[in-house]
Amino acid sequence: METIHTISGMKQVSREARAKGRVVGLIPTMGALHEGHFSLVREAQRRCSPVVVSIFVNPAQFGPSEDFQKYPRSLESDRAALEALGVDYLFAPAPEEMYPAGFCTSVVVEGLSDRLEGRSRQGHFRGVATVVAKLFEMVGPSFAYFGRKDAQQARIIRQMTRDLDIETQIVTCPIVRESDGLALSSRNLYLAGDDRRAATALYRSLESLERQVAAGESDVARLLAAARGVLSAEPRVKIDYAEIVDADTLEPVMSLRGSCLVLLAATVGSTRLIDNALVEQEGDSFRATV
Ligand code: AMP
Repeated sequence: METIHTISGMKQVSREARAKGRVVGLIPTMGALHEGHFSLVREAQRRCSPVVVSIFVNPAQFGPSEDFQKYPRSLESDRAALEALGVDYLFAPAPEEMYPAGFCTSVVVEGLSDRLEGRSRQGHFRGVATVVAKLFEMVGPSFAYFGRKDAQQARIIRQMTRDLDIETQIVTCPIVRESDGLALSSRNLYLAGDDRRAATALYRSLESLERQVAAGESDVARLLAAARGVLSAEPRVKIDYAEIVDADTLEPVMSLRGSCLVLLAATVGSTRLIDNALVEQEGDSFRATV
């Protein structure tokens, strides 16, 4: 595996790969890699060569009171893990090169970015869309891989590629969880003791919703009341939002239809966590995937 730190180096490598007719795959990450990230790598390796993993803790997607400074950074162990997985290139650009003095352009996906995570984290998706657009330009991937863990982000990136005629195909991959259900996240490193135990409430709430959906419940108010009940029973958990939305528009729905997302955000101690389930119509009934 080769590690590339410069934008010009990355552009040259990907230009050469494309010229040889190779299919470039990109997995954008902020590092502190875990099995969730690795699942995206394995999916990319099924049809892409070379596979590029970018690691960039993007200052533009953190609010002023968020955890940019303390966000876990572990480039050396990340590099070793990617090497062991057979990744071709690790792209780790320097912040000064990504955002040189005088940088003043952003990508804003209107509407989809304003709700849910976007309402709680002002400017977050502007930062995400801008950095991902830049990465796509640098790497020129045919396919880019995103986790459904960040379902709103994946939806926004898909919209961005559509609207800007970016030819990269967006592939969304399933959520990877710990054995007790907690969705893997680099921020789980912040969770210790009682907070770590309490954090499973998000999964437990989605799991109970999954059972109710399987039993035929399709009324959103009732599903949400039950999901909130599971979260509220855990005193360390403070709900930010719990919503059921259309998977395409991200607008709230009254009853299940087509494809919906159940989106949860909550703070456990001082750690903000998100999780979700996808609910899809199958004939006359619905099935939730947590
Ligand atoms: P991050 O490093 O947190 O920016 O995440 C990089 C990519 O990994 C994003 O597309 C995330 O959605 C994805 N990802 C993070 N956690 C998981 C997980 N538990 N399962 C699947 N994908 C994940």
